[in-house]
Amino acid sequence: MDLIVAKFGGTSVGNGERIKKAAESIVKEYLKGNQIVVVVSAVNKTTDDLISLTNDAIAYNLTDKQHAEIVGMGERISVRLFAAALESLGVKSQFIDPYSELWPIITDSSYLEAKVDYEKTNEKVNNLRDLLNHGIVPVICGFLGKCNDQITTLGRGGSDITAFLIGECLNANEVVIVTDVDGILSTDPRKISEAKLLESITVDEMKTLATHGAQVLHPHALDFKNPNISAKIINFENGDLSSDGTYITGPKDYKSIDLFENPVASITIVGKDLLKKVGIVSTLTNILLDNGINLFKMNPHHNSITVFIDSADANKAYSLYHDHVIKNKDLSSISRGKDTAMYSITDSEINELTLANLLTKNNIDAILINYTKTEILLFVDWELKDKVSKLLDID
Ligand code: ADP
Ligand code: ASP
Ligand code: MG
Repeated sequence: MDLIVAKFGGTSVGNGERIKKAAESIVKEYLKGNQIVVVVSAVNKTTDDLISLTNDAIAYNLTDKQHAEIVGMGERISVRLFAAALESLGVKSQFIDPYSELWPIITDSSYLEAKVDYEKTNEKVNNLRDLLNHGIVPVICGFLGKCNDQITTLGRGGSDITAFLIGECLNANEVVIVTDVDGILSTDPRKISEAKLLESITVDEMKTLATHGAQVLHPHALDFKNPNISAKIINFENGDLSSDGTYITGPKDYKSIDLFENPVASITIVGKDLLKKVGIVSTLTNILLDNGINLFKMNPHHNSITVFIDSADANKAYSLYHDHVIKNKDLSSISRGKDTAMYSITDSEINELTLANLLTKNNIDAILINYTKTEILLFVDWELKDKVSKLLDID
């Protein structure tokens, strides 16, 4: 017997027929002897409609608390519809919304982007076990939380968080995200129709994709994914929770702060108005490519371009670049800086601000810090490696 958490997005409960088809797919799984928790989003674009209604009616004088209470209505309707659909198919079901005694998801009081209180939620999720053990299918509002008896929301697209959070707390065998595409594709199929379906994707890749805009999964949903829980994204049209889509694998046991083992050389090429000239950057990367040299990072500015490469390749690259510089009228000169230590940081506890504070407090001048929403690359003098590693708490 497996325990499955199945989440249906807005289009998957988009009208009466769809709700019925979704409920049938649950019944099919239930009759195989599995335990199932259903998480549902608001019907279709209900959340958008509620937001725009609210904005038109009240505009600026709305508190976040009132706002959360209103936008939460979408999910509160769908759980009732879904549970009734299940009962109509002969399966016992219980809808659970934030005002229910059994409601499990507890958050802080940031009403519109609330943070989950994992400890409290983990405890409350036990309420669901009793239902499951009595053969009842709980149907839970996605997207919503509760703080001091008030509704909070986890932010737009937050039902994905609900599904993985409940999956983790219940130690489920599988989390199935049911949506309106076949799974994760090489890009948004609404933007490029030739997008190709991926059989699987790692947690890290999926988080990065989501953080950089792919709507298909909330970027924080996978914070609650553990490696023992199977997870997949499937198309609603299949009408079958056992169908294939894209599997999300991991997370593997990776270090969230990684120090590259060798010194990394930095070579700076100087010139004028370089960003306005076509081909400068590509020629520099091609020189490395033609000579089998791996490029870690290139930092182009108006008057200089710095490249970071393994110090073992530095002499060769330096001389190749020098040959190029003396032949190129846009470039004037080249210099090699001190070797650096390169850290890749994907630890969600460390962000731009905390890293900058840590370095400033300890009088460490970074050579380069490159922030993205999912990873920070930090370069410091190689001589500072031990000090910085200690500060970052890595051995
Ligand atoms: P749901 O309502 O089921 O949560 P969403 O609209 O939030 O569905 O997410 C599904 C949508 O995500 C798809 O319809 C698709 O347009 C979009 N999307 C963006 N990037 C991708 C991608 N790489 N793979 C699949 N879908 C993507
Ligand atoms: N209904 C909410 C939204 O539209 C949450 C979700 O769909 O995940 O953002
Ligand atoms: Mg979504």
